[in-house]
Amino acid sequence: MRFSDNGYYIERYIKCDNCGVLLYEEGMKGEVAGEAKLFCSDWCQQWATARAAGIDEPRIPLPREGIHKTGG
Ligand SMILES: [Zn+2]
Repeated sequence: MRFSDNGYYIERYIKCDNCGVLLYEEGMKGEVAGEAKLFCSDWCQQWATARAAGIDEPRIPLPREGIHKTGG
C-alpha cells in the first residue's frame, strides 16, 4: 500500500509514456501518432512527438535546471 505526499491512497499507477516517471496527478494529456498519451511534462511530450516523427535522438533543450520538471 502506497500513499502520495498528501496522504491520499494512490489507486492507480499512472506513468509518463515517455520517461516512465510515476504521475501522482493527471499528467499532461497529449497525442502522438494518433494515440492518446500521458506525459509528466511538456518536455516529454515534445520528445515523444519528435520520436514519432522519425527522429532517433531528438534534441529538445532541457530547462535551465538540467532536468525536466514534472508538469501539473
Ligand atoms: Zn516524462
